[in-house]
Amino acid sequence: MTIFTAEQNFLLRQAINVWSDLKDAKLLSLPWGEETITDIFIKQLRKNYPGQIDVIPFNKHEEGRNGADWIWSFMNVGKTASITMLVQAKLLDRNEVKYGKLGHIIGNKKTGVRQIDRLIDTADTYSIPALYAFYNYVSNKKRIPNNCNSVNMTDSPYSAGFGISIASAKHVLAAFNNFSFDVQCLHSFPLHCLLCNGWNVYGQGNGDSPTTILRSLRRRISQEKTEDEIQSGGQRAEQLGFMKEMHPLVVRARSNEEQLAAGVDPGEFNLPDVAGIITFTDGEKQVDASTVG
Ligand SMILES: [Zn+2]
Repeated sequence: MTIFTAEQNFLLRQAINVWSDLKDAKLLSLPWGEETITDIFIKQLRKNYPGQIDVIPFNKHEEGRNGADWIWSFMNVGKTASITMLVQAKLLDRNEVKYGKLGHIIGNKKTGVRQIDRLIDTADTYSIPALYAFYNYVSNKKRIPNNCNSVNMTDSPYSAGFGISIASAKHVLAAFNNFSFDVQCLHSFPLHCLLCNGWNVYGQGNGDSPTTILRSLRRRISQEKTEDEIQSGGQRAEQLGFMKEMHPLVVRARSNEEQLAAGVDPGEFNLPDVAGIITFTDGEKQVDASTVG
């Protein structure tokens, strides 16, 4: 029996929902964009996340919403640890071939900046990882990498858990001549795997998502493969957005929440120009993964 934390189960459920919504949208020829999916995800978070969710939108861009990039910050039950990341959503095209908007240029085509460069620069400025959240549906399940350490992704309903997959923007950039699903999925992993503890020795469901996510990012992004490397990697924890306190970005956003909501430039508070900040604070329940679906 695979025990999932309630948060892990929730993230898996959202990915399955994205997958199934994209499948429906394709079959019914519905318009279904990144922002619709992100809006639904945020609604689900606010309504059903097993811990506590705080959403602080930065409303500077409410009109020309280009803002699929959000800062996510996970906190443990005791609020004594956090891990923070910059996340940009990208939707797989309806032909199930490529992430068409991955090459987006901000501003003028000739003088503008590549969105991926901006994403990585912003994340580096604040010493947090830059990640993509890919929204996926592919009809051939054999294309999904079976790279979860907790469940077999070839089994239903877990394969639909690739409905949201995560990749380091730096890995995406390294493969940037190719926006195809089949190439980008090679360094992507299911959203819930942020909370998968591959060795099952430290115990899942301990109300300590930041530590679990740190371990996942080390394995998946820093590619520190062995237990020794992971145990000795303490000094690199901060470069992966891990802190033994609430992240200063979250603190600043919280103390300026009203002004940010009123559309004041986040730069005024030394905050990046993103759609907002979502804080995920752990709850304490565990669930049986076989009850998902
Ligand atoms: Zn996993």
